[in-house]
Amino acid sequence: MKEISASDFQVEVLDADRVVLDFYSTECPPCEAVAPKFEGLANLYGNDIKFLKIFRQENRQLAESLGVKSSPTLLFFEKGVPLPQTLSGGIKRSDIIHQLDSMLPEARVREIKSQITPSVSEYDVMILGAGPGGLTAGLYLCQAKINTVLIDIALPSGQVSTTHEVSNYPGFIEPQPGYMLSHNMSEQTKLCGTVYKVAVDVSQVDLEKKEVVIDEFETIKAKKIIIATGTSPNLMGIPGEKELKGKGISYCATCDAKYYGDKEVVVIGGGNSAVEEADFISKFASKITMVHQFASFTANKQAQEKLLANKKVKTLFEHEPRGFERVGDKIVTTVENLNTKTTSTITSDGVFVFIGMKPNIDLFADKLKLDTWGYIKTDEDMRTSIYDVYAVGDVISKKYRQITTAVADGTIAAIAIAKELD
Ligand SMILES: Cc1cc2nc3c(=O)[nH]c(=O)nc-3n(C[C@H](O)[C@H](O)[C@H](O)COP(=O)(O)OP(=O)(O)OC[C@H]3O[C@@H](n4cnc5c(N)ncnc54)[C@H](O)[C@@H]3O)c2cc1C
Repeated sequence: MKEISASDFQVEVLDADRVVLDFYSTECPPCEAVAPKFEGLANLYGNDIKFLKIFRQENRQLAESLGVKSSPTLLFFEKGVPLPQTLSGGIKRSDIIHQLDSMLPEARVREIKSQITPSVSEYDVMILGAGPGGLTAGLYLCQAKINTVLIDIALPSGQVSTTHEVSNYPGFIEPQPGYMLSHNMSEQTKLCGTVYKVAVDVSQVDLEKKEVVIDEFETIKAKKIIIATGTSPNLMGIPGEKELKGKGISYCATCDAKYYGDKEVVVIGGGNSAVEEADFISKFASKITMVHQFASFTANKQAQEKLLANKKVKTLFEHEPRGFERVGDKIVTTVENLNTKTTSTITSDGVFVFIGMKPNIDLFADKLKLDTWGYIKTDEDMRTSIYDVYAVGDVISKKYRQITTAVADGTIAAIAIAKELD
């Protein structure tokens, strides 16, 4: 994989026939997730399309001139002209393929696809999701000598890696960087011998048959499945959000806060995530306007007090965003005062949204019993309504979603399964 810098841009990108360019950053979990997909596709499409990567932090001016506002961002070029379709954030392998296919003649695409050979593999247990819940289940199953495969659409780590600091995971005297905690969890499980299939597309899941298809050509079968797919950030669903997602609107402070040095940002939300992440963003930004629908934050008292004492932070309580618009290089957020029903605007360099999470169950929702909010119902051994299918961590119906509770769920499911398979 060739790495370029801004000075190579003319020759390597603008003078070439077809190019895909990956703007990546360090300490960016979605960048790490996309890297192996990008490299795998370079092996398939590399004769027809040039695959290049560029370090965004050291090539900021070029990134900004190309409208890159979040990491990772993939840009596609044909004969020096950037294509309108760009990809950013949690990029799926199938999205990249779709874009690459559109740049080549159909016959050539068929030829490239014919090089992929389907395969089938079998395990005792298949775990979907390698966050704290899935990794812990993997560790216990591996130590019980049960043949286990761990599948993730991203790199192993889960949401912990997007948290800048974790201070409430037992065993550490000092707060731990989230990415280190998740890295250690993953290495421990991998070292034990659990098979990892990560940064893959999970294209089909048949919970009844216990079969999953990854990357459209590899079928994985197991006797039992553990669902540990966690949650994803909620989107606001208001005008301008979709268009500006990854282009000034971000859902990951560890990925993007560093690009807002001495800049002004809006943070939407008032729960633990919003308040803790705003505190982190304030290490970079010169001013933060917190927009929250209630009269006070709902985060824990300690985090609230810390943020409210922060001179860079201004609060706009009882306000809700109604839309986003790009004006020049700024984002204009329209907010409504929920008491007076009047609207006003805030102009900032970027917006961070932390308004809660939704369970990642799209691939199997209709087959499982769910609670009113769409979380998977389980019994005390983490069994779901489908025989031999378990669920653990944030994706299940429960009161408290923390690393410790996900780890506990993973432990329980693994021990229950180990006893059954014994
Ligand atoms: C900003 C933020 C700060 C937080 N801070 C703390 C904290 O300080 N302390 C604390 O205890 N908790 C904290 N949490 C909560 C904590 O991160 C979660 O409770 C914990 O990560 C849940 O673990 P999990 O394994 O259930 O899910 P996750 O960590 O969400 O992992 C799920 C995994 O499943 C993968 N996945 C998703 N869909 C699929 C699919 N279809 N197929 C395969 N894989 C899939 C994902 O890529 C991911 O790797 C925080 C959360 C956020 C968002």
